Amino acid sequence: MAIHQQGVKDLVLAIRKKELSAQEAVNGIFHRIDEVESQVQAFLHLNQEYAQQRAKMIDQLPTGELERLPLAGVPVAVKDNMTTTAMPTTAASKILEGFMAPYNATVVDRLEAAGAIIVGKTNLDEFAMGSSTEHSAYHVTRNPWDLERVPGGSSGGSAAAVAAQMVPVALGSDTGGSIRQPASYCGVTGFKPTYGRVSRYGLIAFASSLDQIGPLTRSVEDARLVYEVIAGHDPKDATSLPHPGDPADRDRVVWEGLRVGIPKEYEGEGIDPRIQERYQTVLTTLEKAGAQLQEISLPHTHYAIATYYLVAPAEASSNLSRFDGVRYGYRASGGDLLTMYEQTRAEGFGPEVLRRILLGTHALSAGYYDAYYLKAQKVRTLIRQDFERAFDQVDVILTPTTPDTAFKFGEKSQDPLQMYLSDMFTVTANLAGIPGISTPAGLVEDLPMGIQWLGAALQEKRLLEIARGFEELWPPVPWPSLGGDL
Ligand code: GLN
Repeated sequence: MAIHQQGVKDLVLAIRKKELSAQEAVNGIFHRIDEVESQVQAFLHLNQEYAQQRAKMIDQLPTGELERLPLAGVPVAVKDNMTTTAMPTTAASKILEGFMAPYNATVVDRLEAAGAIIVGKTNLDEFAMGSSTEHSAYHVTRNPWDLERVPGGSSGGSAAAVAAQMVPVALGSDTGGSIRQPASYCGVTGFKPTYGRVSRYGLIAFASSLDQIGPLTRSVEDARLVYEVIAGHDPKDATSLPHPGDPADRDRVVWEGLRVGIPKEYEGEGIDPRIQERYQTVLTTLEKAGAQLQEISLPHTHYAIATYYLVAPAEASSNLSRFDGVRYGYRASGGDLLTMYEQTRAEGFGPEVLRRILLGTHALSAGYYDAYYLKAQKVRTLIRQDFERAFDQVDVILTPTTPDTAFKFGEKSQDPLQMYLSDMFTVTANLAGIPGISTPAGLVEDLPMGIQWLGAALQEKRLLEIARGFEELWPPVPWPSLGGDL
């Protein structure tokens, strides 16, 4: 199997046994990138020299030391809203063009300490605001399954890089679905852990009470391996939680009697009938395997999008106030201080970011705070309680990840509300803080679709076992036929 076709687990095994060197792995990956990146455009920065240097270091380690590195020699891509000292960090915004961060994000440090090799930074919707990666200030990323279509977003570059087999794993961030939705559109696995499970230190904040980092991979097992490296308490992030525990204690899922919750509110209007049909097929497959399907109710689902689009912009408007032309990146020239602030922000931020700042500032303003922001916080609690009640009855909740498959460029960018609706199944997990994973469920007319597994807070281990069990039940998803030797 060519190097670029190997997953995280295979690469680590081969590199530890010294059947493959980390330098060969890196060269294989860059060969693949040379072949397909011009079509897909998943990356904002690549640093081959740095990757080769790191690979050389890994290759010089004695075998005993390699054994202790859970990601020895694995090439990784990182979404460009996480800070790296070896490459610029722009969040795909003009306001951070060329910005070199003075420190690595904790996830980046943890990946490197585990032996992983960062090869590049992936494209995203500016400041992770969007669902298509069309809002990047630099360029769009194309879906490897159909280059006329979006890869989803905001972690579209990460999903496309993994689907196009340019890297076996990429990190994404998920505030309202940005790992799971692009994973679904690109036919890969995307995992958002429980809020707080992975440190946000060095993640450029969008909405701090919703943001969470997680892996995009080509299998659930690979997602688990990477998750176990990046998870755990970080003294630099007060909201971070302890590590999930011993990686060795992994069980197989027993379908017999497993209670799978089917939310009745997730049906009907706005969902592509082909998605609905495939979802039914998945349910039938689970039932045949012995699972117990159970209808559940999440009564406040209907308010999720409205709640999210008050809470997220409110936090964003506050978080983004730091980009003022003084401390970071771009600065508009001329005028007095106030003019400089105003010009910098008007010129540095793109239209979607400006829209969110306006929305958020409005929702937080004195006369409207109670009516919008406070109300949204109350509804958020109700949504969280819906899930708590549901997980008293079932072990896992299953939904489609997205209401449709990847759409064409421009199809939704004129209508922000249409775009916002592509998160209808994903935002609730962020509002409730619970973990979710999207796994591929085959192709629908040549385009991938994903299904989403939601678990109770901190129950990642269980969730990953179930998702991995499904992978074994379901026929493997093929790879997009982009050039090269696939
Ligand atoms: N698409 C959603 C938004 O535009 C979610 C983004 C995200 O998860 N970062 O806000």
